[in-house]
Amino acid sequence: MAADRHVQVLIIGGGPGGYVAGIRAGQLGLDAVVVDGQPMGGTCLNVGCIPSKALIHAADEYEVAVEQATSAPLGISVSDPRVDLARVVAWKDGIVGRLNAGVAGLLAKAGASVVEGWASIVDGKTVDVATTDGSTQRIATDHLVIATGSDPVELPGLPFGDAGAGRVLSSTEALDLTEVPDHLAVVGGGYIGLELGTALAKLGSSVTVVEAEGRILPQYDRGLTAPVATNLRRLGVEVLTDTRAAGLTDDGLAVEGPNGPAVVAAEQVLVTVGRRPKVAGFGLAHLGLTMDGGFIAVDERGHTSMRNVWAIGDVTGEPMLAHRAMKQGEVVAEAIAGKPAAFEPEAIPAIVFTDPEIVTVGLDPDQAKARDLEVVVGRFPLSANSRSMTLGDGASGGGGQRGFVRAVARADDHLIVGLQAVGRSVAELSAAFGLAVEMGARLEDIGDTIHAHPTIGESLAESALAALGHALHI
Ligand code: FAD
Ligand code: NAD
Repeated sequence: MAADRHVQVLIIGGGPGGYVAGIRAGQLGLDAVVVDGQPMGGTCLNVGCIPSKALIHAADEYEVAVEQATSAPLGISVSDPRVDLARVVAWKDGIVGRLNAGVAGLLAKAGASVVEGWASIVDGKTVDVATTDGSTQRIATDHLVIATGSDPVELPGLPFGDAGAGRVLSSTEALDLTEVPDHLAVVGGGYIGLELGTALAKLGSSVTVVEAEGRILPQYDRGLTAPVATNLRRLGVEVLTDTRAAGLTDDGLAVEGPNGPAVVAAEQVLVTVGRRPKVAGFGLAHLGLTMDGGFIAVDERGHTSMRNVWAIGDVTGEPMLAHRAMKQGEVVAEAIAGKPAAFEPEAIPAIVFTDPEIVTVGLDPDQAKARDLEVVVGRFPLSANSRSMTLGDGASGGGGQRGFVRAVARADDHLIVGLQAVGRSVAELSAAFGLAVEMGARLEDIGDTIHAHPTIGESLAESALAALGHALHI
């Protein structure tokens, strides 16, 4: 079958990796096409980052309204707050729709085109697309970029969809609930389980989190996760650690924990035990690419083991984060255009949008020690930060769990190797943290920088001063 069309770059997947690759390729004058069967933006925009943060925001607003109605700590009275989840979801869908159109517009502005449909790889230079209008288009390409993302992991005994009688939800279904379940069991106390579990608890659900490891968010140090665990208790969320899901029962979720088998009462079960790279079902095996575990192995430019075949985003490894995928997308487009591009970040920021929020960039003290680095650590409590106080103590402020900002630097030359924080509104500190680590800042650089008052950002300077032994406000 002859090709219907020939392009220089064909990108499979319009998520943060794929669409950014498309925009950058277009900007560089390459004839690029992005193929996706769902609206532009991928998992992140359609069923991930954006809808989850919208739901979290709505839940925070509702929690504040309930607090005003019950104890009015700021002297603001509200009567009888109620939440209509169907309207929250409609509001969320409006944001997603605007952004879908925005991404499509950015691609068009850059001169890249979009083909709506599902791609099957024929060979490294040919892709068939089953388009949404029912036809098949064969596209020949000089360069093929695989940006197919990831799918939620399913557990045996807890199948998603009809097989689980509609009671087992992945994050995708949880983001489209139109009624708050009375009782919800969440399997997996990681990013998604805690972000969505917290939001649904604030909206009125009685939530139980079942986590296989000894504590929630086991990848982060205990100091960072303790305020989140305390606030979950305040919200009435039960957390069962060292416990695994065993299957569905008529009235809930069967679990196996330190005290043997038990049943968690729940009408619905949200399974969030990780995501796996999407490498099957679209002809990838025809290419026989070198793999790295379940991921596609790539070099620092995003090049796979096959000439002119590239891969970016979740399909290439951890951390599976949108901003990593976006940067890889830029790098791949520049590499294809012949520029000396490489994906070699000093650190990739990570944020958990729990209450309170956690942000990490670079190494924590334990990770630094594990690398035999001698470090100094400065920690500044947000309870000593005036802006944090003016933002209130109660609901949506982490329930009084103010948290801290922490700087980790080499003991010999004070080069900052890591910055972390837990607290209300600390997510926005990720930009300053990222710049500091990426630009090789030293404690003195941060401590000497005038930080505007009153802001939570002042705690960054104070953490650097604390590491130098002379914090001012503690
Ligand atoms: P994806 O965004 O998964 O996009 C892949 C695209 O490829 C999809 O649109 C898919 O339809 C398309 N595709 C797949 N196969 C084919 C085919 N054969 N033909 C055509 N198209 C195909 N990350 C963050 O950084 N911050 C967050 O706050 C955050 N929150 C999240 C919340 C949730 C609930 C979830 C599930 C994820 C969240 N993530 C977050 C992770 C983030 O969504 C991913 O890391 C990111 O989307 C990966 O981008 P990607 O381009 O690699 O793949
Ligand atoms: P995760 O890896 O964050 O957490 C999964 C949790 O499930 C872990 O704590 C693990 O110990 C636990 N677990 C595994 N098997 C289990 C079992 N059988 N029973 C009980 N617990 C079990 O995975 P996730 O929450 O599904 O999120 C997937 C990925 O999506 C994240 O790793 C992250 O890369 C991305 N994400 C990012 C954000 C963000 O940036 N804010 C938000 C959501 C998702």
